[in-house]
Amino acid sequence: MTRRVADKRTGSITVITGSMFAGKTEELIRLVRRAMHARRRVQVFKSALETRAETELIRTHDGIVFSAAAVRDTAEMEALIEPDTDLVAVEEVQFFDEPVVDLCCRLADRGVTVITAGLDQDFRGMPFGFMPRLLALAEDVYKLHAICKKCGADASRTQRLIDGRPASYHDPIILIGAEESYEARCRACHEVTNRPGAPAGKPRRPRGAAKPPPPPPQIGSLFE
Ligand SMILES: [Zn+2]
Repeated sequence: MTRRVADKRTGSITVITGSMFAGKTEELIRLVRRAMHARRRVQVFKSALETRAETELIRTHDGIVFSAAAVRDTAEMEALIEPDTDLVAVEEVQFFDEPVVDLCCRLADRGVTVITAGLDQDFRGMPFGFMPRLLALAEDVYKLHAICKKCGADASRTQRLIDGRPASYHDPIILIGAEESYEARCRACHEVTNRPGAPAGKPRRPRGAAKPPPPPPQIGSLFE
């Protein structure tokens, strides 16, 4: 009886998350390589939507290349998962359709180790799609930080720039192939224009800039 319990594989979900440039892909590859050294049967997937990498390859910002199956959606990924796979890794999981969360749970329930990497916030600093659900259902969450491009602090957000200027709150979240760039920023340096509820037309004071002088006291208040 005890033997049977010991033989039963325990599945789990791990999410590696954080902003862009936080090293999520490098960490995913490290964990996958570790499992391969332990002779576990591993399958790695990525979304075919992701254009940064060549087909069938994961390319990190540091130039490390690792092979993965590029799939269009969760259904295509599920069809490719072999019954004897021990570990399923999913790169850029936020680009998948929402059923990927349930697939991760089903795999973990049947004893598979699931390791995913993905953004937790969009460029506006808002929770990214279904990622809050995946983070809540995971056994382990590793939140990695990049370095803020402006001030050098730990960065938890992704700054989107269009023609070198901060993107608007209302710009679509995914614009594959558009003329845009991204950089890591901390909370204080992260900029989003036209954010609902922000004072219209009032620019944010840049970090480190001098505070405007206080208004002069009213004459009457000095003599009360
Ligand atoms: Zn900063």
